Amino acid sequence: MLRDGEHVHVGTAGHAHRFPRGLYSALRSFRERAPGLEGVERPEQVEKRAGPIPVGGVLPRIASPAGLLVGDAAGAVSPLTAGGLDPCLRLSGHAAEILDAALRAGRPAELEAYDGHALRARFRKRLLLRKGLDGLRTPALATSAFAVLRTPPGRALARRILFGNGSFPLP
Ligand SMILES: Cc1cc2nc3c(=O)[nH]c(=O)nc-3n(C[C@H](O)[C@H](O)[C@H](O)COP(=O)(O)OP(=O)(O)OC[C@H]3O[C@@H](n4cnc5c(N)ncnc54)[C@H](O)[C@@H]3O)c2cc1C
Repeated sequence: MLRDGEHVHVGTAGHAHRFPRGLYSALRSFRERAPGLEGVERPEQVEKRAGPIPVGGVLPRIASPAGLLVGDAAGAVSPLTAGGLDPCLRLSGHAAEILDAALRAGRPAELEAYDGHALRARFRKRLLLRKGLDGLRTPALATSAFAVLRTPPGRALARRILFGNGSFPLP
């Protein structure tokens, strides 16, 4: 939840199968009991910004002579943070370079360099960490995880993950 003094952003996130009564029902019920919103006027109209985020890692096959996949379509989203804006831009730049080389050479085989397998391998650690994160299933566990993140090594780790420059390691 984010409150900037004028707007309140409220959201739920997680794997769809973890919301047995549906995503909208989860959002409705969270809106009702979100902490810090007691007494806040609830507007009739709200803006909805939501959607599935692919956190399973880069797809193995992202190139064919018919086209190249980039961004969410290629699964270019950090499995750990679910951030996809920076990876989308970086992968698009990489795709443009390879496409340019293929067009200049006039050889579709050049597109093989746009290889999802190779990119996916660079995400192995993050995919493992995502599995660990998925294991945090209770508020008590999540609270303990935040306590760990407040320690100096936890802060250093969070800084590296959230603000480091390695959001999408290209070949
Ligand atoms: C609620 C939410 C919060 C997020 N927060 C963050 C964040 O804080 N930081 C971060 O890094 N990432 C965040 N992400 C992820 C990030 O938004 C995506 O990874 C990123 O936008 C992917 O870019 P994209 O160009 O691949 O896809 P998109 O941004 O989804 O663009 C695809 C475009 O294609 C259009 N389109 C679809 N089908 C067709 C069609 N048939 N014909 C023509 N156009 C079509 C769509 O309308 C859309 O405009 C968030 C995602 C969500 C859902």
